[in-house]
Amino acid sequence: MFCVHCGRPDAEGEHPGCRGPRAALEPPRFCPECARRMVVQVTPVGWSARCSRHGDTTSAARTG
Ligand SMILES: [Zn+2]
Ligand SMILES: [Zn+2]
Repeated sequence: MFCVHCGRPDAEGEHPGCRGPRAALEPPRFCPECARRMVVQVTPVGWSARCSRHGDTTSAARTG
C-alpha cells in the first residue's frame, strides 16, 4: 500500500505531514494501490478521487 498523500510506500518513512488530523480531512492525491496520481474532485458531501487504473474512491466509502 502507498500513502495517499505523498505517494510513497506506506511502511517507509514517517510521513510527518500525512498522518495528522488535518491530513485526515484532506482528499487523497495518490492511489493507495499503485501510487498513480488521482484526479480529485471535491463534492458537497466530501470528495471523489479517480485512479486511471483502479477507478473511483469516495469519502463515503472510507468508513472508520
Ligand atoms: Zn505520506
Ligand atoms: Zn491505482
